[in-house]
Amino acid sequence: MMTLLYTSDPERGRTWRDVFAAEAADIGFVDPTDPHDPATIRYLAAWNPSVELIATLPALEILFSIGAGIDQFDMSRLPPHVRVVRMIEPGIAQGMVEYATMAVLALHRNLIDHGIAQREGRWAPIKLTPASQRRIGVMGLGILGQAVLGALRPFGFPLSGWSRSAHAVEGVDCFAGAAALPAFLSGCDILICLLPLTTETRGILCRETLSQLPRGAGLINVGRGGHLVEQDLLSLLDEGHLSGAVLDVFDPEPLPQGHALWAHPRIIMTPHVASMTRADSAARALIANIRRHVSGATMEGEVARDKGY
Ligand code: NDP
Repeated sequence: MMTLLYTSDPERGRTWRDVFAAEAADIGFVDPTDPHDPATIRYLAAWNPSVELIATLPALEILFSIGAGIDQFDMSRLPPHVRVVRMIEPGIAQGMVEYATMAVLALHRNLIDHGIAQREGRWAPIKLTPASQRRIGVMGLGILGQAVLGALRPFGFPLSGWSRSAHAVEGVDCFAGAAALPAFLSGCDILICLLPLTTETRGILCRETLSQLPRGAGLINVGRGGHLVEQDLLSLLDEGHLSGAVLDVFDPEPLPQGHALWAHPRIIMTPHVASMTRADSAARALIANIRRHVSGATMEGEVARDKGY
């Protein structure tokens, strides 16, 4: 029998177990508390498995990430033959669409300035900017970037996107590659980062790039904390080049107490909650991928280990 070892949150694991029992009785499902022979484990579903655990699994073929990202894995310490698959399931996209829409509307409707005025006891109306004059740009035209753009379309914002390779997305002005980054950035009144964290994208939200945004622009970072050079953001906010930021991800997490981001009046922070993997649909997505693997089909979300995403 092929067996999956699940090492993530035990409470959500109960849902995973029920879905496997009901829909994939041919695939063994164990968690670390179940008696099992490590030599029979072909699949591992985990967030950040230790090197020691992986070393005990000689038959391991595929490491499935419990989340959309795989930057938490230390690829250099993973045996080269182990394939890596990220999580693609509807719950993640749904959560991200809600969060990004909330953040865009918060910045678009001046919630940061209204919050500052409220705390100072000032009644300070701000003239509305029509959506048709607020340009939104998304870095990353993958599963999540495209889902977010699709949700923003009905508001009437001019939309653009930036990716590594060229894409055509209806109603979206698409840019590709490093050479096109300045042209993309200069047209974003609100920039959303939905990139994976790789050696190429680490630190991509820095003074050099953020200062290419139009004066008064806002930033939403829902990618990874490692994308943002926090000190550069703080300086650009204090200089008035940027008007506000909504941040969901930090480096490290949790953000240390006393860090300047916590108290900045122009930053809205959330503790990495933009979207969360939903247990039932994640278990189903993983079962579907195991079935694809067994039948020799392409798995959804397999990572190119050399590219890092
Ligand atoms: P995908 O792999 O589907 O998409 C990634 C996109 O980024 C692709 O369009 C890719 O370009 C682009 N990209 C990658 N490297 C570069 C580069 N060097 N230059 C330009 N573009 C680049 O990922 P998802 O959409 O599923 O997820 C994106 C990220 O969102 C995750 O990696 C994770 O970090 C983050 N995330 C955050 C969550 C949260 O709660 N805050 C929850 C879930 C995910 P191309 O299309 O050409 O390959």
